Amino acid sequence: MPKQHDDCLFCSIAREGAYVHKGKGFVAINDINPQAPVHVLVIPERHVDTFREVGDFDARESRRMLEFVAETAEKVGLRDYRVLVNVGPSAGQTVFHLHWHILGGGDTGAEVPSAVATAVAELEE
Ligand code: 5GP
Ligand code: ZN
Repeated sequence: MPKQHDDCLFCSIAREGAYVHKGKGFVAINDINPQAPVHVLVIPERHVDTFREVGDFDARESRRMLEFVAETAEKVGLRDYRVLVNVGPSAGQTVFHLHWHILGGGDTGAEVPSAVATAVAELEE
């Protein structure tokens, strides 16, 4: 198991969560508060706080992570979907363990989650 933080929610979920998909070094779970008909989170087992630290993954892991996002979307039945990473509190990040949102399903696959819409509106002000 890669380096983890004892007090991190997503480290715990990566260890013992109810996965919708699991691969080497990565898991995918349903979001507890879905913002679209299908809302899945891809979580690396390795703890990094945010996407800013994506360089902590070597080239192979980075590639594997992106492929795992695409595989997960396919596995949960999505052909069209949105992939999103919130980076930092003012961009809507609330859990400080890197995770990728996959949003889709129904006619609302293109809807923007409210936290993101707020952040974008603030940037445009
Ligand atoms: P962020 O706002 O950091 O980009 O995304 C965190 C996401 O984690 C939110 O969409 C939130 O609903 C989800 N979340 C928070 N706590 C839990 C949990 O205990 N279980 C699951 N499955 N999702 C969670
Ligand atoms: Zn963690």
